Amino acid sequence: MRKKLIVANWKLNGNWAFNEVMMSELSLGLKEVQWHDLEIILCPPAVYLQQLNGLMTDVPILLGGQDVSEQFFGAYTGETSGQMLKEFGCRYTLVGHSERRVRHQEQNELVALKAKTALACGLIPIICVGETLEERDSGKMNAVIQQQIQSVIDCLKDDISEVVFAYEPIWAIGTGITATVDQAQEAHAFIRGVLQQYSELCGQKVSILYGGSVKADNAQVLLGTPDIDGLLVGGSSLMSSEFLAICLSSLNSK
Ligand code: PEP
Repeated sequence: MRKKLIVANWKLNGNWAFNEVMMSELSLGLKEVQWHDLEIILCPPAVYLQQLNGLMTDVPILLGGQDVSEQFFGAYTGETSGQMLKEFGCRYTLVGHSERRVRHQEQNELVALKAKTALACGLIPIICVGETLEERDSGKMNAVIQQQIQSVIDCLKDDISEVVFAYEPIWAIGTGITATVDQAQEAHAFIRGVLQQYSELCGQKVSILYGGSVKADNAQVLLGTPDIDGLLVGGSSLMSSEFLAICLSSLNSK
C-alpha cells in the first residue's frame, strides 16, 4: 500500500506569532484522530523550523523543508543543506517546486541532484513536476513531465522508489483553478506509467501527490481518484480550519 500524505507548503509566509497560533489550532483539531495511514507534513520557511519543531511535541505533524541544496556544505551563500534540515527535525523536503524552477531557473538535472542529496542526508524528497498552460495547450505536457521524471530516474536509479512525486500543473498553482479530477487522474496515471516503465515495484510503491489550488471542498474528490495518493497544499494551508478540513477529508477517501 502506498503512503498517503497531506503536505502544507507555507512558502514565504508565517511569523513567530502566527506559527504559535496555527500550531495550537492544528494540535486541537488533530488531537482526537488516530492517523493510521496518513502523514501530515508542514514545510515552513527554514528559519522557523526550530520554533515549529519545539511546538510539535503533541501534534501528529512532521516537518519538511521547502528546498534543499545539492551541496553538503561549503561556500554556497544562502543555501540550506540536507543535514541542517535533518538537525532541525525534518523528515521530508520539497525539491523542484515550480516557483524555484521558474524564478531561480532550476533545471531538471539540478532538481535530480537535490533529490539525491536529500536521500543521502536521510530526507525523503518530494519532487514537484508539472507543465505550464502553454505546454499543455501545445500538446507537450507528457514530454515535459516525462523529461522531469527521467532526469530523476537517471540520477537516482533504484533509489527512485524511495521518493515522493507531486504533480503540480503550474497553471493551477495559486490561481484558484484546480485541475479537473479527470485531468489530474490522467496526469497521475501517466507519471505512474513512467515510473512503472523503470520498474513495476517503483510504479506501485511511489506516492504521487496532487497540488494546485486544493481547498476543503475539492480535497475529497481528488483523493478519491485511483492514482492520487495525497495533496500538496499552498494557500489553503495558511488557514487552520481549511487545512484541518482537508486533512479530515482524507479520512473519508479511499
Ligand atoms: C503549491 O505552491 O505547492 C501549491 C499547491 O499552491 P496553491 O495550493 O496555493 O495552489
